[in-house]
Amino acid sequence: MTRLIIALLAIAVFITPSYAESPWLNSNIKGAVTDGYTPSLKDDFYVHVNHEWLSTAQLRPGYSRNSAFNELQDIIDARLKAIMTDPTLSGHDAELVKTLYSLWLDWDSRNEAGLSELKGLVQTLEKVDSLDGLSRYFMTEDSFYHDVNISDFGLGRDNKDSESYNLELAAGSLSLGDAAEYRQMTPNGERTKKMHDSIVTYMFRRLGYSEEEAAKYLASAFAFEKAIAEHMMTLEELYSPDAIDKMYNPLTMDELREKSPVYPFADILEAHSAYSDLMNLQEPEWLKALNELYTEENFAGIKAYLLCKLVGGYITITDEPAYREYQKLSRERYGTTGNKPDDELAVDFVHGRLSGPVSRLYLAKHVPEQAKKDVEEIIRETVKYYKAMLGSESWLSESTRAKAVEKLDAMRLNAAYPDKWVDDSELEIDPEGSLIDALNALKKFSVQKYFYDRLNTKVDHDLWISDVVVANSYYRPSENSINIIAGILGGDFYTPEMSYEEKLGGIGMVIGHEVSHAFDTNGAQFDKTGNVAKWWTDEDYKKFQARADRLIKYFDAMTVTPEGTKYNGSLVQTESIADMAGIKAMLGIAEGREGFDYDKFFRNYARIWKLINTRERNDMILKVDVHALPYLRVNAILQQYEKFHSYYGIKKGDGMYLAPEHRVAVW
Ligand SMILES: [Zn+2]
Repeated sequence: MTRLIIALLAIAVFITPSYAESPWLNSNIKGAVTDGYTPSLKDDFYVHVNHEWLSTAQLRPGYSRNSAFNELQDIIDARLKAIMTDPTLSGHDAELVKTLYSLWLDWDSRNEAGLSELKGLVQTLEKVDSLDGLSRYFMTEDSFYHDVNISDFGLGRDNKDSESYNLELAAGSLSLGDAAEYRQMTPNGERTKKMHDSIVTYMFRRLGYSEEEAAKYLASAFAFEKAIAEHMMTLEELYSPDAIDKMYNPLTMDELREKSPVYPFADILEAHSAYSDLMNLQEPEWLKALNELYTEENFAGIKAYLLCKLVGGYITITDEPAYREYQKLSRERYGTTGNKPDDELAVDFVHGRLSGPVSRLYLAKHVPEQAKKDVEEIIRETVKYYKAMLGSESWLSESTRAKAVEKLDAMRLNAAYPDKWVDDSELEIDPEGSLIDALNALKKFSVQKYFYDRLNTKVDHDLWISDVVVANSYYRPSENSINIIAGILGGDFYTPEMSYEEKLGGIGMVIGHEVSHAFDTNGAQFDKTGNVAKWWTDEDYKKFQARADRLIKYFDAMTVTPEGTKYNGSLVQTESIADMAGIKAMLGIAEGREGFDYDKFFRNYARIWKLINTRERNDMILKVDVHALPYLRVNAILQQYEKFHSYYGIKKGDGMYLAPEHRVAVW
């Protein structure tokens, strides 16, 4: 995930949007839209279309969010539950899935196994009493398979050789997720810390430690995290377009040894047989700092950090009292009420751990071949119109336009489900064993299949996905592919019975959005083969950047909480560029159709973004989500387009009005 960008000056011809604040209600916060609040479509299109849903939809027990995506996932999950409990299903996939499902729900066996495995792991780590001992510990299977570490490594794609898998070297995880929280903690960070500390304290208590001992470990671990977080990239920096360049630092094993003389990173990799000619160090500043902090003086802090990480990670996979405690703490953290039923939790768990078998069983029952053909057709049509659209962007030079069209021609179009799967015929789960045994077997299997078997080989593009039962889609810059997953073919997004306009407003917009990621601030840095390369002329890229900067300023000026918090335009820039381009492409398709019903199209676009969530979750999203808030994905995006204004007769003074000179659509 590394990116490249050129620092650019703003271009004077653009006028900065003059919004002081958002004219719309923060309608995604549950309870914000009431019966009495019924704006006209000219003032708040999003609430107007979704009013009934927004004012009546509930958050199910255990959920902090409800949305078009949730409704669709609920349908999928109900089908998955039927599959996982079907006594007539047989075969290897069915056996794996049904076994894991029963093991998760078998509280008696889980209670009996209790914390015994964790106790052993904690004892081993407790015995480590020096920095040298710690270095040796990092070379053990315990550290590797249970992620008890201060550095991380995994499989990636080399930025300059996207056909090859590489070895990515990264910083260890932070309990607060974002390094920025250690510099200035936000209310969201405080909530995360409270939940983390409560989980760790509970688990220590269960292991026989006193409250004071737990508090001491937590304080010591936090001090170490704070010291290292100082030198780590914040989420905002990681998401920023210039991260592509910053995070690309290829190096050899010898160079790693030189760069990390104190912390034995190279020896740890060798101990785990993780070696590649293509290695990349994501955060050199972090590694430099780690070498300064890896001292006997900090030994206690590092060990405390590892212990907290180890015990905290077990709360959801041991016994029932631990799981119930976890649910209680989650309710506080995310503002939810009640618990998700156990059988639904078991479905999620099995889906997450056995995505290949679960996907194949689902496809055999619920996805007709025709659905794949339909989607392929919409993709082809979308790409065709994108070509026309890119070809007519008069602000780009001819050479950049030609390159953009080339990139579009080379794009891999993956629809619904793959024809090839990772071979898991040798995976076994012992029905007589414990849930922990099953998890260990699964971990070993997936590390072998998805890491060791792939390291130092070429990318097999046919294995584009293993989980097709999620309501989602994505663009992958490193292979220039759009991936429209079977799971999203339902609900408000797509049904065979929908009108053509509704399909364009639903799945069409999803496809248009994903295609445009090839040309957003990140995607623009990758060429048609997925390598990071400069294919824009300098002048065109400056113009593009200036357009993106205007879009950032437009979002920066918005207020997005009832208290008037300003939005972070940089964070949501790439996704918003994708939304705008998606709309533009669909409007292009519409133009060629006689009698196109724009009302149906715009309304279904608003419908796919219907969403309510708790205030706690909403606050979190504002910090970590690169997508704009759903009401802005509708209102702030649609108001960029003249067709939307003219079709509904929106005029100055209307909430949805945006003067032409203030519009910021990049494409
Ligand atoms: Zn996106």
